[in-house]
Amino acid sequence: MTVLTYFPTPYRDELLYSVLARYHVRAGNISPKVTMSELFGKSSTRSSVDFQANLTALVKRLPIGSVYTEDEFIRNHSLLPLYLPFLDQKKSQKAISLVMGEDGRGIRALVGVTASSVSAITSLQFCGDCFIQDREQYGEAYWHRIHQVSGVLVCPEHGSRLLKSNRLLQDVNQHEFIQADDENIEMCTYVIDDSIDTRVLQRVANEMRWLLNASLTPFHENYLRQQYTKVLQSKGLALPSGRVRKKELIKAFCDIFPQDILQLLQSEIDETSDQTWLSAIVRKHRRAFHPIRHVLMMSFLCGSTEDFFTGKGIKEPFGNGPWKCFNPVVNHFEQEVVHAKEITYCYDSKKVVGQFTCSCGFSYSVREKIGKEIQRKDIKILCYGEVWEQKLKTLIQERATLEVMSTALRADTETLKKQAIKLGIAGKWKLLKGRKNQLIENFPKEESGTEYQDKWLQLLIDFPDDGINKLRLRAPHIYAWLYRCRKEWLKENSPKEKGKIQLRARVDWNQRDEMLLSLLHEILTKWDESEADKLLQKTFKSITRKTGKQSWFEKVPQKIPRSVEYVSTVVESKDEFQIRRVKRVISRLGTEFDVVREWQVYRLSGINSKLASSRVKKFIEIALENQTMI
Ligand SMILES: [Zn+2]
Ligand SMILES: [Zn+2]
Repeated sequence: MTVLTYFPTPYRDELLYSVLARYHVRAGNISPKVTMSELFGKSSTRSSVDFQANLTALVKRLPIGSVYTEDEFIRNHSLLPLYLPFLDQKKSQKAISLVMGEDGRGIRALVGVTASSVSAITSLQFCGDCFIQDREQYGEAYWHRIHQVSGVLVCPEHGSRLLKSNRLLQDVNQHEFIQADDENIEMCTYVIDDSIDTRVLQRVANEMRWLLNASLTPFHENYLRQQYTKVLQSKGLALPSGRVRKKELIKAFCDIFPQDILQLLQSEIDETSDQTWLSAIVRKHRRAFHPIRHVLMMSFLCGSTEDFFTGKGIKEPFGNGPWKCFNPVVNHFEQEVVHAKEITYCYDSKKVVGQFTCSCGFSYSVREKIGKEIQRKDIKILCYGEVWEQKLKTLIQERATLEVMSTALRADTETLKKQAIKLGIAGKWKLLKGRKNQLIENFPKEESGTEYQDKWLQLLIDFPDDGINKLRLRAPHIYAWLYRCRKEWLKENSPKEKGKIQLRARVDWNQRDEMLLSLLHEILTKWDESEADKLLQKTFKSITRKTGKQSWFEKVPQKIPRSVEYVSTVVESKDEFQIRRVKRVISRLGTEFDVVREWQVYRLSGINSKLASSRVKKFIEIALENQTMI
């Protein structure tokens, strides 16, 4: 093996390809194959701009005393570091061994370049300012690797538009190296028009440069997806379930990266399509995404790629905790001791809502106020918790007055009453001699037990994913009663594990459907009777509400098919409802007046004659005509 007597010193961010091109010129070889043979010991070695292979052979031939290693070439002089973080551990190892080994074929397919919709550069690219600067400083120009990255269209250093060599890479002999000299750039052209605003492009180029030099190791398979989802959730762009709010995401994203810029970056988003790369990149990755797309996503989410990785740009909607507990009866009142937090999303206010639960049982929710500390006045108390409840109970037993309790428990009297009733420890307020407003402990009677048990079972059906704590919050009084009086039963009829429910008795939905159906018949026959003064439109909501089993219709309609079917046949349209009102008004007026006037009908049935549909108008017209005939 012949060791090289000379090897050019790679410049900062110089592509290995460029170093080898300089070697070829210095060596004075005419045939590229001779150069290949000298460098790699094999004349058939191919040259590669982005992933030069056969590195081990090259390193072995470097002049004695040379400090360069394969790793140095890969890390600082190839484009591989851009792709490595997004491959799994195994593929990343494979990629490295491919470029170290003799035959680098397969590397492009492995890192995802081959299948990518972002195409690679077609000619070597450079920055005019860097070119001049390098010549002044080193006496020669060279190919910078950052300028060869797809998606880098301006120099991150100078902000100037990149130029591309007049020699197309596909036309160059596969053993040859193109040097950064005058001949190869004589006919160069800009990669983008000068009418384009380069500010966003320079920012993107800077992000790509950071990623290229960050020496990131491969992430865990789910890491990116989880981080993306987490930040999207904190921005209200993904639901607590993790589902992305696609439309909102696209809108927010395009506000930062306009479509014309995205097009230049080969990453445009079809706003009408359901399948954009933007929502796909958040899901489990079945295929590789080009680094430019990750960089765009990260910059969008956190301001910069670096802040995404350091976590600096990830803003937790309520800070990092612990958060304050506002339970007034504990020693840690207003101290930051709460560690459990759950984030939900409020559709009405379009705000993130945090739900905080302290170990003392006190739990509250609060809407996000960015950058502001949670204050007592902003919170909505969800549950006072065992400690507070126990104190309330004790005070009631001690027959404390409402004023005393109100001060001790820091709650207004209405709240105290409600809580006492919820807990099942107060039936009603009684005035006792000499004492005002005392709550008398009064557990529900034994008979309400079955009713509570039924309601509890219903909760298990309605909220199959809830654990015991959530269920408890949904019906604290039922839970409290069952806990006291039917402890064993409650234990047997609680979710065993989160998400798993074992019901003792199977519910006969068929029977329920039948009973519900006859209840519906009854409700509909008496519909107008119960609404004596004001008629009520027969809508899905109004009908199902009257059954008291609205949750069945909403949660398990497939289990009550006949009832659902029946409701759908009796609901009224707006017109039908107006006509029903008109009929009633006419029949009532008919008993009072000889001739009923049109304006009377409109006014009394509450219909705006200008807005009424032609169907309603026609009906009134005909009805009144018939009356004159009589
Ligand atoms: Zn430059
Ligand atoms: Zn607490």
